[in-house]
Amino acid sequence: MKLKNRVALVTGGSRGIGRAIVLALAQEGAWVGINYVADDEGINFKQAKEVAERVKNMGSKSLLLQADVSCEKEVQKMVTQIVKEYGKIEILVNNAGIVRDVTLKKMRKKDWDEVIGVNLTGVFNCVRTAINYMREAGYGRIISISSIIGQTGNIGQSNYAASKAGIMGFVKSIAREVARKGITVNAIAPGFIQTEMLKKIPEEIKSRILQQIPMGRFGTPDDIGQLVVFLVSDEASYITGQTIHINGGLYM
Ligand code: NAP
Repeated sequence: MKLKNRVALVTGGSRGIGRAIVLALAQEGAWVGINYVADDEGINFKQAKEVAERVKNMGSKSLLLQADVSCEKEVQKMVTQIVKEYGKIEILVNNAGIVRDVTLKKMRKKDWDEVIGVNLTGVFNCVRTAINYMREAGYGRIISISSIIGQTGNIGQSNYAASKAGIMGFVKSIAREVARKGITVNAIAPGFIQTEMLKKIPEEIKSRILQQIPMGRFGTPDDIGQLVVFLVSDEASYITGQTIHINGGLYM
């Protein structure tokens, strides 16, 4: 087990890519805080509970943490909660993300603010809070999930592209700031991965995208989970400030 008793927090860990990251970390022995945003009645909460159950069955521990990452106070409460329960936070995976796809002509200020708020300010809130504990411990691993769209742009995704490109710049700056504190800071830029988010793309556009992927398949959440495990492992201790692209060759 590569991550035995390491403590991790995965934002948006209830489904999709986040779920796969939680399970991959737990498989390696990490204790994981599973963040989600849905209220305690909704179907998404049930999904978060199911992930926690899977972690338990793997013989590891988890903590369900409801918080909206775009809200600084909720993030502070969440990080405090995980440190109170497990005594530390060593791995932070900023995975929570949303889309509000619409061309600029029709984009409301609300569409812009919500996407930047969750995808970019959310990363800022989590890193700023968790990094203090990592500095004190002289150890930390921070991974933020960006996107191929942050590199290429996309029609109808200017808000999303800006948020994901913002992550790449943010990561490089923080990596430099904490490089001598035992903390590595990296981003992962997935291509098109089979989750609820991909389901929102019309079939016709999806089949056009598929034709452009050299490997001829969409990625799976597990593809990303395994990359996260590598980047937070001791084997990756000399990798920092990078954005690792994982897209079946779609963007090279
Ligand atoms: P998803 O299936 O839509 O899941 C999104 C997750 O984020 C859910 O767990 C959701 O929690 C959580 N979330 C949303 N808003 C939140 C908030 N304000 N605070 C805390 N958690 C919040 O998405 P996904 O496809 O797995 O994507 C995960 C990440 O990968 C995102 O950052 C996305 O931009 C990025 N990405 C995805 C793809 C792709 O093709 N799927 C490609 C490139 C990058 P609830 O369950 O409580 O709603």
